[in-house]
Amino acid sequence: MKTVRELIKEAESRLDDEHKDVNVAKVLFYHLAHKEPHELYLMMNEEVDPELEAAFLKGMDQYYQGTPIQYIKGYETFFGRDFIVNEDVLIPRYETEELVENILYRIDDYFSDDREIHLCDVGTGSGAIAITLALEEPRLKVIATDISEKALAVAKENASRLSASVEFRAGDLLEPLLKTNEKVDIFVSNPPYIPDDQEIEAMVKDNEPHVALFGGNDGLYFYRRIFQEVKPLLKEKALLAFEMGFDQRELMEEAIHQFFGDHPFEIIKDMNGKDRMLFIYYHLK
Ligand code: GLN
Repeated sequence: MKTVRELIKEAESRLDDEHKDVNVAKVLFYHLAHKEPHELYLMMNEEVDPELEAAFLKGMDQYYQGTPIQYIKGYETFFGRDFIVNEDVLIPRYETEELVENILYRIDDYFSDDREIHLCDVGTGSGAIAITLALEEPRLKVIATDISEKALAVAKENASRLSASVEFRAGDLLEPLLKTNEKVDIFVSNPPYIPDDQEIEAMVKDNEPHVALFGGNDGLYFYRRIFQEVKPLLKEKALLAFEMGFDQRELMEEAIHQFFGDHPFEIIKDMNGKDRMLFIYYHLK
């Protein structure tokens, strides 16, 4: 029989040999054993329960074979809440929490009365952005869309588990909103933005949905389509908020000038100092 310490050490040393993230062993163990770090410390010298050991070894095997830990666990934490994830949705990123935070700041700045604020999130994936906004800002009335029915099934499940009121619609880009003549105060999207031929980490490329990652030759395919089609969807004054690639500032500025002329906009850096968020103030500043 093995102790918890031995089981974890063995996994950590294999991870180290394979130049993989050694933290994964503990992260998986906490998850399967339903323990917090301080509780794990207390049980290190105990013998591992055989069922727990089997589940741990199975999960570690999936990780050695290249599956992201979030898909193995089945969820990722975003803005303090657990969102179910599987291969049909992109794993929510830390940078996207920053996008949500910055949208909330701007809601306070630009929508100060207490009327209902209409917001749409296009390409919602797991629903992380739409659901978080709906829960954080009760004035919001949120519609979220995705072209992938499988992604929408995950997003709906997340909304129901987290008791968020979000309306989900299936369809290509703006089509599900345009066809009902929707008008929004806030348009949000984290579209696929990686250029088709960019080299990305194998763990991302081999597991996460390409429909959520790749955005044409220069990564801006979906932004240009949105910019071109979005105006009928906007109220007289509106805020547009996007996540974007760290190396897209120049191309983005060009596209904004082409479709939005002189409307003010801002590109904001993430915590790593990389250009990551775009806000366009449509008749708003
Ligand atoms: N941030 C993601 C990544 O780097 C890409 C997300 C997206 O294309 N919207 O993997």
